[in-house]
Amino acid sequence: SPRSVNSLSMAMERTYIMIKPDGVQRGIVGNIISRFETKGYKLVAMKTRMATKELLEKHYADLTSKPFFPKLRDYMLSGPVVSMVWEGKEAVSTGRKMLGATNPLESAPGTIRGDFCIEVGRNICHGSDSVENANKEIALWFDESEVLDWESHSQSWLYE
Ligand code: GDP
Ligand code: MG
Repeated sequence: SPRSVNSLSMAMERTYIMIKPDGVQRGIVGNIISRFETKGYKLVAMKTRMATKELLEKHYADLTSKPFFPKLRDYMLSGPVVSMVWEGKEAVSTGRKMLGATNPLESAPGTIRGDFCIEVGRNICHGSDSVENANKEIALWFDESEVLDWESHSQSWLYE
């Protein structure tokens, strides 16, 4: 393999990606995972669960006073979600680009929302919008012991 890299010298980030109940119901889980996997990001945590009102009020703390919040909460409670943490160089901002715009009709084709959905209230996935929020969201949805440190054999094929 090529000369191995010092991962500590790079700004590795972790981002919280969540497939919403419509993404699970519509069978898009595998496709979304596949996009992050084939991009080269490393899966360091994943589970499926039901969200709760308490989790959602913390997760969407900046939106609780919005008129659409009750609908957003009901939508997010309507079925299982898939919670994931993906790790890699600039994973937070790149994850947002891979998701596309909040409004799927404004998301470019080729993005997850651009390819698979139509309305903002059914936009199939969540991605952290900053490193600070990513860290908060990971701590909210996962126990520390569920987020794994492991060495990918692809590391030196992904990073120079
Ligand atoms: P995101 O970071 O791209 O997910 O967007 P925001 O943080 O602004 O909003 C969080 C989520 O709330 C979005 O993904 C949508 O599912 C939902 N949402 C945001 N704005 C609206 C709205 O105007 N109407 C409805 N029904 N849902 C919204
Ligand atoms: Mg957001």
